[in-house]
Amino acid sequence: MIVRTRVAPSPTGDPHVGTAYIALFNLCFARHHQGKFILRIEDTDAVRSTRESEDAILDSLRWLGLDWDEGPDVGGDKGPYRQSERTEIYRTHVQRLIDEGHAFECFCSQERLDALRKEQLAQKGRVGYDGHCIGLDKATVAARKSSGEPYVVRMKVPQTGTCVIADLLRDPVSIEWQQVDMQVLLKADGLPTYHLANVVDDHLMEITHVLRGEEWITSAPKHLLLYQYFGWPPPVLCHLPLLRNPDKSKLSKRKNPTSITYYKRLGILPEALVNYLGMMGWTMPNGEEKFNVQQMAEHFDVERVSLGGPVFDIAKLSWLNGRYIRENLTTEQLLGRLVDWAGKPDYVLPILKLVHERAEKLSDIFPKVAHFFSEPPTLTEASFNHKKLQTQDCMKVLFFVSRRFDGLRTWNAERLRSELEQIGEGTGLKIRELLFPLFVAISGQAVSTPLFETLEILGPDLTRVRLRNAMTALGGLSKKAAEALEKEYRQLPGSAATEG
Ligand code: GLU
Repeated sequence: MIVRTRVAPSPTGDPHVGTAYIALFNLCFARHHQGKFILRIEDTDAVRSTRESEDAILDSLRWLGLDWDEGPDVGGDKGPYRQSERTEIYRTHVQRLIDEGHAFECFCSQERLDALRKEQLAQKGRVGYDGHCIGLDKATVAARKSSGEPYVVRMKVPQTGTCVIADLLRDPVSIEWQQVDMQVLLKADGLPTYHLANVVDDHLMEITHVLRGEEWITSAPKHLLLYQYFGWPPPVLCHLPLLRNPDKSKLSKRKNPTSITYYKRLGILPEALVNYLGMMGWTMPNGEEKFNVQQMAEHFDVERVSLGGPVFDIAKLSWLNGRYIRENLTTEQLLGRLVDWAGKPDYVLPILKLVHERAEKLSDIFPKVAHFFSEPPTLTEASFNHKKLQTQDCMKVLFFVSRRFDGLRTWNAERLRSELEQIGEGTGLKIRELLFPLFVAISGQAVSTPLFETLEILGPDLTRVRLRNAMTALGGLSKKAAEALEKEYRQLPGSAATEG
């Protein structure tokens, strides 16, 4: 048997360190067994998936040296490797399940499903689909379909018994079938859900081992049932522990930057980041903390992964990065890395455009753009002195802006400006007053490069961290104060929208 593993990111946001961690472990497992490592793009969510996000994920994984043997960009004989290009395959497979009595068309309207859910919640019962359409006869289904009535396809699920999930890292996990919903496999728009596409593709791409995040373990019963319905042997499952914030909660961008781009901008070397990700639940047999992908692959034994919630700690990452800088690079090499990191035209050109008109000498430029290349100087409450704004006004602005920017998926100057204008309308603060604390938070100065263009270039993670540091400099927020601001924030126009 040739071992084949895969990483299957959904291109719906910034490239996440969790994706790189899963990719690394799959890569090491495959390499250790002289197998193949595949990259598949799971873009079944047509609304949230973007090609931009896909490109950023591919670039980041490549930057980390996590190369794949087959994928949308490099090809391979089990392609296409992008799910949006495999729609026909899923339709054929779903039809097979319907024909063999394992799946059914469901015409229930959203109103009916909402009412059902409400009733189930009120009765404190199990929440889930009640099988309303399961018994529709073929003629009725055909008639309703041809009249153009929208429908989805759901899988049948046994009502009794237990599903036992074998996992490389755990004792068998049991989940009652009653807890498993009759999952939608094909949506009303004819596109598959994650569950169907994932199973069909893992089978057709001959994936032998699925190493993925722990959060998917509750989906395993649906997947195992689909394998059974299709008559396919399931791959070996292995659910890896989730990365955690230092306080042990699930790694989240609100507490810890999660985007690979952030760490790249911070000046973390790819070999240090990938090494650090390798330390998440894994240790080299000799206890050595510094190792490269090749060494990790050589010694990799997935059963030695520890389940105790690995903490992604920036201080430890910086320490390891420092070792790479000091121990692995000559000063000449450091220069090369620095020029490469700071001097890439596609990063520097948009920055230079912001100061070009205001420079008389070349030496004017560096001080004006310093905040793109290093953290602003340490802020104190005095940094926010302003003739009109009090400390609490600045705090409020920083809080509202952080909250508003957190929900955004579109990150460009125009969008950020319009969000700020809305906050201005809602609070009665003038744009100039809103800008002041932001300029200080981002650049350490009251006047700097044009704010929205600056934020666009810095990106959401760096922006979020600087806004948070500024709030800390202003004395931080007690739980009570944060709740009060949150309440006020919710009164602002547009604050309920998740994203547009
Ligand atoms: N597309 C899923 C994700 O984004 C993949 C989960 C899996 O590996 O099955 O995490």
